[in-house]
Amino acid sequence: MADPLVDVAIVGFGWTGAIIAEVLTAAGLNVVAFERGGWRNSSNDFGVPFDQDELRYMWRHHLFQNVAHTTLTFRNKVDEVALPMRRLGSFLPGAGVGGGGVHWNGQVWRFLPSDFAARSHNLERYGADVVTSSDMAIQDYPVSYAELEPHYDRFEYLCGVSGKAGNLNGAIQAGGNVFEGPRSREYPNPPLKMTYGPSLFGEAASSLGYHPFPHPAANMSRAYTNPLGVQLAQCTYCGFCEKFGCGNDSKASPQTTILPALMPRPNFKVRTYCEVMKVERTRDGRHATGVSYIDEDGVLSFQPASIVILSAFMLENVRLMLLSGIGPPYDPRTGAGTVGKNYSYQIVSSVNVFFDDKITNPFIGAGALGMMIDDFNGDNFDHRGLGFIGGGYIGALNTGARPIETHPVPEKTPKWGAEFKRAVASNYLKTVPIITHGSVMSHRGNFVDLDPRWRDQHGRPLLRMTFDFTENEHRMSDYLTDRAAEIGRAMGGREIRVNKRSGSYDIAPYQTTHTTGGAIMGSDPRTSALNRYMQSWDVPNVFVAGANAFPQNAGYNPMGTVAALTYMSADAIVSEYVKSPGPLVHA
Ligand SMILES: Cc1cc2nc3c(=O)[nH]c(=O)nc-3n(C[C@H](O)[C@H](O)[C@H](O)COP(=O)(O)OP(=O)(O)OC[C@H]3O[C@@H](n4cnc5c(N)ncnc54)[C@H](O)[C@@H]3O)c2cc1C
Repeated sequence: MADPLVDVAIVGFGWTGAIIAEVLTAAGLNVVAFERGGWRNSSNDFGVPFDQDELRYMWRHHLFQNVAHTTLTFRNKVDEVALPMRRLGSFLPGAGVGGGGVHWNGQVWRFLPSDFAARSHNLERYGADVVTSSDMAIQDYPVSYAELEPHYDRFEYLCGVSGKAGNLNGAIQAGGNVFEGPRSREYPNPPLKMTYGPSLFGEAASSLGYHPFPHPAANMSRAYTNPLGVQLAQCTYCGFCEKFGCGNDSKASPQTTILPALMPRPNFKVRTYCEVMKVERTRDGRHATGVSYIDEDGVLSFQPASIVILSAFMLENVRLMLLSGIGPPYDPRTGAGTVGKNYSYQIVSSVNVFFDDKITNPFIGAGALGMMIDDFNGDNFDHRGLGFIGGGYIGALNTGARPIETHPVPEKTPKWGAEFKRAVASNYLKTVPIITHGSVMSHRGNFVDLDPRWRDQHGRPLLRMTFDFTENEHRMSDYLTDRAAEIGRAMGGREIRVNKRSGSYDIAPYQTTHTTGGAIMGSDPRTSALNRYMQSWDVPNVFVAGANAFPQNAGYNPMGTVAALTYMSADAIVSEYVKSPGPLVHA
């Protein structure tokens, strides 16, 4: 079966799909989006107190990709056999309208200007020995911070981010992040009200000479109407953001920022429960003709389209490129090929501070409520003699300490039984967690490809991930954790517990959903799959929006940068591609 031709077919209707659909439909293009999951909105699906169901959302994965239908296989090294994940762990891709944007925290960061020049900046400052050691494969972005600034700003105003600027047009602002790149204006909303635990962290960090600031949060510090005329409500600090939908319309998501403006437009349609199987191409392979998809009734259809946007989350974007033959697959032995290359992640650790005399009430929280320092992120500190490059932020985040998930106990407490319960009961209200959130350099041996053995419910090969931390990441994470422990001690509690990251990467426990790379952007088609507009070098009417485009991960949560790149790409489609279809960059 074939549907009538549309201008644009969008594959996946989460954050990036919604951003692109809004910009392209506003420009008059006829757009249809395909979403493998169902429709969702806050009043029907996340009404208070239904959304605070920790069993349903956190433990039974109600909002996440269904691994009985599709999953991925994993191994640490190429000489191991990859096995399928039967339960999601390390990261939690979404399914359903809004995608991961429904159950994200709302931590909105901009990368540092030097993060975009990861290779050349580090080469110049620390030399070839450091940057090329252990098969490091870092590459520069083909865009600069200055080019992305207006697009960062657009996303922050769309989401009503609550925060405090640290650098306004080059003028450093006390109380904000003094390390950030220059921003053109203040955040649209003031910071969230700070709770006790993060405030103690901020005071201790200041006493050690660091520069604490409130985490930029897409959780509303006050009622807000965004530039599309969509209203968000003030946050109630219920603490159910991370892995939950917001029943209060206080957390920015596609539903609370874009869909009320987009859905009534006659040139837009979303097809729910429709899973795209493949991008179809002309015989010579140089042009996409549309997408084939299976609907709720199991019927396979073809949607012809002049432009195809892959916005199905970075892992599925790369898999669809591989399944559709868009770009040459990466070969880790030779380093040739581009699709699958530079898969990366992040490395996290934590320190718990236990008090006897301070009640911190950690259940009062929001997805991005906290005090942070950026003194050890990116190249904000001198790495000479440290034996690693990269860095991350350190901070006390109060995301809600949900009762089943959160049971901080001092070291040497048994893992179960009466003593464990007593320790949880006496420490839960008197603990402050400090986290570190560090970058992972791209390495030649970290990549994704199609698994030769395991298949999904439709018989298509699963994505196979090969990934491990290297010495660079372990050294960096240990360094950050030591700094976090120093701040923890300065907070004056009874004792601290230091949870360092050691050994190989373990895909089982949740860490972050900040997986990146695999279809990276660059300025050379021999070393990148996409150009600076996230346009495929090989099939120019295919654009691939997501963190897959990061040639190198940074120490921040990705969505601010993913959104900025997506806006830049959408603008280029409207202002250039539509007028003259073809490559927007000539190699
Ligand atoms: C618990 C959690 C907390 C997070 N917190 C933060 C945070 O605070 N800050 C931050 O920067 N990032 C955060 N993230 C990551 C953030 O959610 C993602 O970076 C973001 O959602 C990515 O947007 P996307 O458009 O690429 O993918 P998504 O928003 O996930 O959208 C992809 C959509 O594509 C659909 N899809 C997939 N395959 C197909 C197919 N074949 N056919 C049709 N549809 C398909 C999926 O169902 C999904 O709806 C968090 C993630 C999780 C899981």
